[in-house]
Order: sequence, then C-alpha cells, then structure tokens
Amino acid sequence: MMTTEHFAALSFVARMGTRKKVHAFVRVKPTDNFPHEMIRYGDDNKSIDILLKKDTRRGVVNNQQTDWSFKLDGVLHDASQDLVYETVAKDVVSQALDGYNGTIMCYGQTGAGKTYTMTGATENYKHRGILPRALQQVFRMIEERTTHAITVRVSYLEIYNESLFDLLSTLPYVGPSATPMTIVENPQGVFIKGLSVHLTSQEEDAFSLLFEGETNRVIASHTMNKNSSRSHCIFTIYVESHSRTLSDEKYITSKINLVDLAGSERLGKTGSEGRVLKEATYINKSLSFLEQAIIALGDQKRDHIPFRQCKLTHALKDSLGGNCNMVLVTNIYGEAAQLEETLSSLRFASRMKLVTTEPAINEKYDAERMVKNLEKELALLKQELAIHDSLANRTLVNYDPMDEVQIAEINSQVRRYLEGTLDEIDIINLRQIQEVFNQFRVVLSQQEQEIESALRRKYTLIDKNDFAAISAVQKAGLADVNGHLVGEPDGQGFGLGVIPFSFKPGKKIKSKKTFKDQLSIPVRKEGASSPLSTKELDISPSKTQLILPPRDGDVKDMRDRETSSTEPFPSDSPKEELRPPRPSTPPSKPVAFEDFKNERGSEINRIFKENKSILNERRKRASETTQRINAIKQEIDTTKEALNVQKALREKQGEYENKGLMIIDEEEFLLILKLKDLKKQYRAEYQDLRDLRAEIQYCQHLVDQCRHRLLTEFDIWYNESFFIPEDLQVALKSGCSIRPGMVPINRVVSLHNYLKAITGLQQVNKK
Ligand code: ADP
Ligand code: MG
Repeated sequence: MMTTEHFAALSFVARMGTRKKVHAFVRVKPTDNFPHEMIRYGDDNKSIDILLKKDTRRGVVNNQQTDWSFKLDGVLHDASQDLVYETVAKDVVSQALDGYNGTIMCYGQTGAGKTYTMTGATENYKHRGILPRALQQVFRMIEERTTHAITVRVSYLEIYNESLFDLLSTLPYVGPSATPMTIVENPQGVFIKGLSVHLTSQEEDAFSLLFEGETNRVIASHTMNKNSSRSHCIFTIYVESHSRTLSDEKYITSKINLVDLAGSERLGKTGSEGRVLKEATYINKSLSFLEQAIIALGDQKRDHIPFRQCKLTHALKDSLGGNCNMVLVTNIYGEAAQLEETLSSLRFASRMKLVTTEPAINEKYDAERMVKNLEKELALLKQELAIHDSLANRTLVNYDPMDEVQIAEINSQVRRYLEGTLDEIDIINLRQIQEVFNQFRVVLSQQEQEIESALRRKYTLIDKNDFAAISAVQKAGLADVNGHLVGEPDGQGFGLGVIPFSFKPGKKIKSKKTFKDQLSIPVRKEGASSPLSTKELDISPSKTQLILPPRDGDVKDMRDRETSSTEPFPSDSPKEELRPPRPSTPPSKPVAFEDFKNERGSEINRIFKENKSILNERRKRASETTQRINAIKQEIDTTKEALNVQKALREKQGEYENKGLMIIDEEEFLLILKLKDLKKQYRAEYQDLRDLRAEIQYCQHLVDQCRHRLLTEFDIWYNESFFIPEDLQVALKSGCSIRPGMVPINRVVSLHNYLKAITGLQQVNKK
C-alpha cells in the first residue's frame, strides 16, 4: 500500500539528481528614448541582441565584433513589479517551503534598478519589490499549510568594503557591533556568527524588520559615509517546517537569500581617489570573485570552487550553485549611453546561465520526536506481547530488564546445570536467554580463576612467556626444553608446573625446602672442598637430549629423532665403572645411559624394545601385504584383458542366445570366475592392510611414548645419582612413588599386553 509518506519519499528521490540550470533574466529600466536600433529582443522574449554601429565607436574601424546575441530565460521590458515577481521569484519561494534553498540575485550597474527590483519603492505599496512580496507569499503559504508547523526567521546582512554589518542589530542602529561577525562553515552549511536572526510569527513583524533594515542601510550611508550602492545586501528568510503529525520525525529547513549586489560598473578608471577608490577596489574584487566562482561552478570538470576569496562568495557558499534553486536578474539601462556596461552585465548573465545546480530537499530528523515515537512503539509492542502471552497461556512473563535477584537466580540455574543437578533451563524470553549465556560466561571465568588459584596453592606456576623463570627452572632440571613438566605423562597438564618436593609426614625428610632449593645445596664431593656452582652443575635439559654412538638399532633411531637441538658428546668420555662409590665427576651421559638401561631403566627399556620389535614386525607385514595386493591387482588386469579378448571373439563369431540368456563358452566362464575370486582376495588383503596401518600408527605412538619416558627417567636417575646430596638419596630409595616426577614403571603401557588383549578380543568377535 502506498501512503502519502512513501509518495513524498519517492518524489524526494526523484527530484534529487535532476540538474537544473540557473535561471537568468534581464530587466530593462524604462526610458523615454529607448535605442531600438541598438537593443532588440527576440520574438520569444528570451533573447536580446545588442547592435553597435562601427562609426559610433569614435570612428575607429576595426574587426571588432559589433553584434552580440544573448540567450536568456526571459527579457523583462516594461514589466510591472507584479509580473517580475511572478516570473522571477514565485517558484523559488514556493519550493523553499518544500525544503529547497533558493537564491535570487540582482546584478547590474548603479541606477539600473537592482534595489527597485529587490526592495521596490518602499513608499509605494504597488511598487514593492521581490522582498516584501516573498515575505507575503511565505506567510500566505504557511496559512494554507495547516498540516505543518512552520517557523520563519529573517536576517539582513550588508557587506561593505569586506566588512560585515548586521542591518537588523538592535535599534537604534549604531554601526558594527563590538565583536566582529565571522563566516562559519559546518556540515549543516554556512552561517554568519554574530548576525542576528529574528523569529517572525507574522507578516507585519517581517515587514517592520525589513523597513528597519532599509532604514539602517540609509542611516549607515550617512553616518558612516558609505554609499549604499557600493555595498552588497543579503536578506535571508529561514524556513523550518515540522509536520503536525507527531509520528513524522522528519522536518525540513530551507533559506531564501535575496541579494542586492553592489553596482557592477567599472570604477576608478576616471581617476577616482580616496574612499571612492577603496570602494571601487573592493567592489571590483568581490564582483570578479563572484564571477570566478560562477565560472568555476559552470565548469563541470572543476571540483574546487574559490568561495573563500571574499566575504560575498564565502557568505553565499551554500547558496550559489549546489543544491539550491538559483535565479539571476540582470538590471540594465535601456539607453545608448550605457551600452558598454549593459554589454558587460549581459555577459555576466550568460555566464550565469551555464551554471547548473542540483536542488535537493534539506531534510532533518527531530531527535526528540524520534525518542517519543520509539517509546510509544515500545509500549505498544509490550501490550502486544502481553496479549500474545495470555493467549498462549504464558502468564508470568516479564519483559523488563532483569534485576539483581533475577540475575542471581539465573546464575544459580547455570551452576546447577553445570553440576548436573538441573536437567534443563527453561526458555522464557529473549532477555532471559541472553542472561543465561551471560551467566555461563561469568561462571566459566570464575571457575577458571578458582582452578588457577587452586593450582597456585598446590604448585608453583610459572608463566610460559616468562623466559627467565623458565630457564631458571630448566637449569634446575625440572622442565624439559618445551617447558613440559619432567615426569608428567606426555607433558600434558596445566602449563609449566613444578611439583613440590614435599613429603608426607612420617617420611624421613624434614626439610621443607623446595626441590630447587635442595638442588642448590652444596654438593659434597669426595676430595673436593668447594661447592659446585650452578654452572658446574649444568644439567640443562638441552643436554639431556641424548645422542649416543650408533651401537644398536634403538640408539640409531633415537639419534634420527632427537638430533636437532643437541651438541654431540665428546667422544673421549671416560668408560670407567661409575657406581658405587659416587665418582668425583659424573660420567658422560652416553656411558651413564648404558648403565641406566641395565639398572633402573631395565624394565622400561625392555618394554621399549618389545614395542619396537612389534612395530617392526607390523611394518614388515604391511609391506608384504602391499606386495601381495599389487600382485593381485596385476593379475586382475591380465584376467580383464583376457576376458575382453574372449568377448570380442564371441561378438565376431556371432552370439548365441537362449530364452534371453547369453550363452558363453567354458573358457570365458572360467575367466569370469577367476576375476570374481581375485576381487575377493584383493578386498580381503586391502582390509588387512588398513587394519595393519592403524596398528602401526598406534604402535608408533607407544614407541614414542616409551622413548620419551626412557629419556625422562634417565634424566631423573642421572640427577639423583650424581647431583642430589647423599642424605636425600636415602629418602629417595625408600619408595619409588615419591621420586620427583617419576611415574611408576607399572603405569607404562606395554604394547605387548595391549596387543594380547586386542587379539583376544578379535578372536572373541570372530566367534
Ligand atoms: P540600483 O539599486 O541598481 O542602483 P535603483 O533601484 O536604486 O538602482 O534605481 C534607481 C532609480 O531608478 C530609483 O529611483 C528607482 O525608483 C528607479 N527605477 C529603477 N528601475 C525602475 C523601474 N523598473 N520602474 C520604475 N522606476 C525604476
Ligand atoms: Mg541599489
């Protein structure tokens, strides 16, 4: 359905983007001796021709142009003020009430009738000009538009010698105000800071302000010794229109600038001096800047318009070109003597005609109305919801923002839900759903904090990014290069943890010192009197990554996997028997590792070896199966080929058919059977291969895990055996369960046992 609102919006869009030429008119001042041979109008009253006789130009015969033709929007000859208004201003004013800015300018030499056109003969009502008529039209239209509340404001600005004067400043007129006015630009447009703008609720008020302004203009011309035809005057009517329909949040604003320009005649050429020269300079400048701006506006390729070169163009920045309706009235004398100035004025007019504008409605939004409307809408929707709920038998639903009690209840629901004591959280409304999610986040972050502080209470947590702390711990041998906790299964856990070296009461150790502290206890060495420095005790994890001479498969495998960050051990390491008693210098790691494998690490090493051999066996089987698969595949291909040959032969000899059944010979039949059998074999072998691959992957994982454990435990054993004080060692020997980071050997997964269990299961499944 199309409402009037839609219609307005559409027409707004349609009007936007339509370019419009500036309307340029010529008004000829009546005279008794009109030079018909020099000034001629076109039949349509839209063109004016100027014809100059060569001999009139002081007898100079040259090739200069002597005839000019100007095409304009209308020539107003002997036109009444009434007709001028109808032709020139009526549409501009009427569109201003629809939100379009409008500018009407009078241009021409002094005495040509600019002020007469713009203001009129104030003493004669019939001869009133555009200004009072425009005010009249505005108020008449307001009266007719009962659907809108429209306010009118006016201001009257004079620009004289590049100074700004407020012609409507407080009476009696005392000249320029203390604080000089300035031209200010903001996104809404250009305005004159300090210029008084007067609200006028009725026609009479507006008229009296206009008269005031005119009077001030005259007074100023006397008291300040300024010539009124030497200044530019801009009378502005500001319109703001709000719909009386309160739901309409949009409102429109517009302004009509009525500009009476200073005389355009070239001054100063006859040797004027002093004040007149100064005036002339300013006028010449401002009018030529106006012309420059207009030329730039007429040039579609120009993107910079020099508006700020003088006060006149700056003040009119948003009223020249742009989005407004623009009209120029060029006032000329209908006299032979003024023909030169007339020509120059007509040239200006024809330049103005090249300018295009893009009139657009100045639409704004009334924030207060918007809020009110939204509040209304909200209340309505709440009512609607209430009705909806009562129809759906949902009575106690509240849609208001939640209070603390309600939020606490949701928090408790979420907690119970997470604990499992609450099966589901009922959905009530959107707000509640959002709050549930919110409380999930709250509970989650609380739990995170709780876990962290629990860990802190129990362990020393070190920030993973705190490299100094990590390296200190690494020095102490508590973490490996990746920051994994030594002895922690697979290095998984909460960041970098250091298990405290605290013993249960009743155990032999009384010291409450941490493991790190204990490590730094001076180590008493036989025959050595000075304690070991941390440097000498270098058991940093990087060195615990082993590289062993390639003695057997295990070791080779290890080297392949662990070389990257390690330095080779010195090859001349001593091979003496190491323990007991503890040697004065620890044995080299490769040597110690051999010992470890025979001693404490024998069980894990056995499992490691066993796992590896299973892995190797599976690999071998996989490779054999692959070979078999390939062989079968080849045979399938050959059989297929043979079958094709048979088939071709059969087709060539002519086919036999019996009751729809194909009759084939025995050879072909046997080939088909063979092919079927091969396919079956292939499928079975392929299935085996897949199973084997899965097993290999798992075995590989266990082998890696065993290797890791073997190395980890070796490190611990190495430290314990050669660096921990002997009194501590006693305690360590008393039970493997308290060994720092040591995982009991029985918890290491044996692949052998695992596979035995699996095979058992498979056999059960097969049965
Ligand atoms: P401008 O403002 O261009 O200097 P004015 O408007 O002051 O010129 O006109 C000068 C004189 O000519 C005034 O006395 C004015 O009344 C008279 N005049 C100008 N145009 C007309 C016209 N179209 N009809 C009658 N008188 C006019
Ligand atoms: Mg004038």
